[in-house]
Amino acid sequence: MDTTRSEPANDVESALRRVKPSVRALGAYTLQAYEPRIKLNQNESPYDVPEAIKERIHTELGSRPWNRYPPFVASNFIQAVSEATRWPADGILVANGSNELIQSVLAVTVAPGISVVIPEPTFTLYRLMTEVNGGTAVSVALTDDMSFDVDAIIRAARDTDAAVVVLCTPNNPTGSALTREEIERIHDETDALILLDQAYVEFGGYDAIPLLQGRPRMMVLRTFSKAMAMAGLRAGYMLADPALQAEVNKAKLPYNINFFSECAAAHVLRSRGELAPLVAAISAERDRLAAEMAAIPGLRVYPSAANFILFRVEAPAITHTQVFERLLHDDGVLVRDVSKYPMLGRCLRVNAGTPEENDAFLNGLRSIMETAQ
Ligand code: PMP
Repeated sequence: MDTTRSEPANDVESALRRVKPSVRALGAYTLQAYEPRIKLNQNESPYDVPEAIKERIHTELGSRPWNRYPPFVASNFIQAVSEATRWPADGILVANGSNELIQSVLAVTVAPGISVVIPEPTFTLYRLMTEVNGGTAVSVALTDDMSFDVDAIIRAARDTDAAVVVLCTPNNPTGSALTREEIERIHDETDALILLDQAYVEFGGYDAIPLLQGRPRMMVLRTFSKAMAMAGLRAGYMLADPALQAEVNKAKLPYNINFFSECAAAHVLRSRGELAPLVAAISAERDRLAAEMAAIPGLRVYPSAANFILFRVEAPAITHTQVFERLLHDDGVLVRDVSKYPMLGRCLRVNAGTPEENDAFLNGLRSIMETAQ
């Protein structure tokens, strides 16, 4: 018997010591589960995909064998994206939600010693995936009014020789957006890859797809989870130069998108004209919410180009936690507590729902804030 070698340990700590210390130091992306009457916390569409579109999807799915893999390349979905965006099919990557594309882009670009510039506060997955890959997230603070500090972003990217600058526009959770000129400046004055996450662009802000032509360092991400009303099916896509797409593709799992989602996303995209009135109604409700919230004393309401609104509870007699709890328990309305994000102490985020849902939220919020005067 080999006496120089001790018995392999069989405790949990011995298992966990094999996980990268940088990962063990991280907190996971989480969401607390609630079952509210009115759900305004995840920026989903309040409207389901119209029945007529669902029927066309069901008909096509009905004849598909479940025992067979989907096509190796999701060419039907990719073709639909190509028709909708006028971007060549070989520059398109489709995935199980745009989350997965954020993960793939950062997997092929980030390693220890590599920097990623992230204007914050923003969607927390960019930082998480940068750090899981061992890279350095270089945070650039938004300005006081939550707009992007373009000069500081450019400076940070140049100073750290950043591999990627992640720009979420419109930005979650602030709703602020970059102009075409600002995006062009960040691209032209750095030599980083520019990852534009446009999950909310159907609701407002500059649609950056026309910028892709002739800019092989730029990538645009889009999702079906918001305006396209398909959060439950998980679908998203990336547009980029075919050479860059081919590299990101190496980190994507084979068959990452199942044939239900692939088929549904292609149909929804080809029928997007039928969804357009719903998207317009959500944007109009966002504007109504913003105007009515701005008239409530004790709140600071930030302008938004997305389908949600960030607001700060400034009245000294009440906390954001009390507002959150009372909306939930008295009015059945669930909003998102974003107060742990950098710069967002005392802040909540609410997404536009149906007019009735928004009324319930506004009435609840008005009466809560009245008691705090
Ligand atoms: N990007 C942003 C900015 C988001 O807010 C979200 C979802 N909250 C995503 C990406 C992920 O979307 P998906 O459902 O397509 O994975």
